[in-house]
Amino acid sequence: MSTLPCGRTRDDVLQNLDGPPDAHEIQCPWCHDERARLKDLDSGLATILRTGDEDGGNDDGAIAAVMRAVRENLRPLRSTSAVSALGGEAVKVTSLDLADAVRGAFGESPRIQVNYVDVRPSDGVSPHRQWRAECAVSVAPDSDLTEVETTVVAKVSEGVRTVVVAEHLVVDVTLEDVHGETLRHAVRDS
Ligand SMILES: [Zn+2]
Repeated sequence: MSTLPCGRTRDDVLQNLDGPPDAHEIQCPWCHDERARLKDLDSGLATILRTGDEDGGNDDGAIAAVMRAVRENLRPLRSTSAVSALGGEAVKVTSLDLADAVRGAFGESPRIQVNYVDVRPSDGVSPHRQWRAECAVSVAPDSDLTEVETTVVAKVSEGVRTVVVAEHLVVDVTLEDVHGETLRHAVRDS
C-alpha cells in the first residue's frame, strides 16, 4: 500500500472517500490530490448508477456495494514495470498514469469526449513493451466515424508513448453517441 509523503496511505484516503474530507485532508496537499484522483475514478461509475436510479428508484445500498467492489479491485493504482519513453530505463507506471497521459493527448476537443481509458500490458515479460488500450469516447452528432476512429487511435498511441515504450499497441476503440449507444467498435494495431 503506497504511503503518501504526509504518512497517510492511499487506503486511508480511500476509506474516507464517501464522507467529507477530515481536518487533515483539508489542509494536506497530498491527501487532497489523492482524494481528487480517487473521486475521478469513482465518478464515471457513479454517474452510470445515478442515471439508472432515475428509472428504478433510489438504491443507495447497491451503489455502496458496487463502490466497495470497485475499491477492492483498484487495479488502476497498482504499478506495472515498463520501459520509460524518455530515458529507456525500467520504470513503474500505473494504468492511471497511462490513462492520464492519453487524456492529456486528447486535450480539450470539442467533438470528442473521452469517457473511459484503460491501458494494460499485453505481454507476459517484465518490463512490459506490449500494451493494450481500451478507449471509449462520445462523439458529436454528424461526426465522420472513420475520421474519429483514426484520431482516437492516434491520440491513444501518442499518450501511451509519451510515457512508455510500446513496441506493439492494440487499441480497442468504442465510439458512442451522446446517449452512450455504441456507434462503432474497432480493434486496431498502432
Ligand atoms: Zn495527508
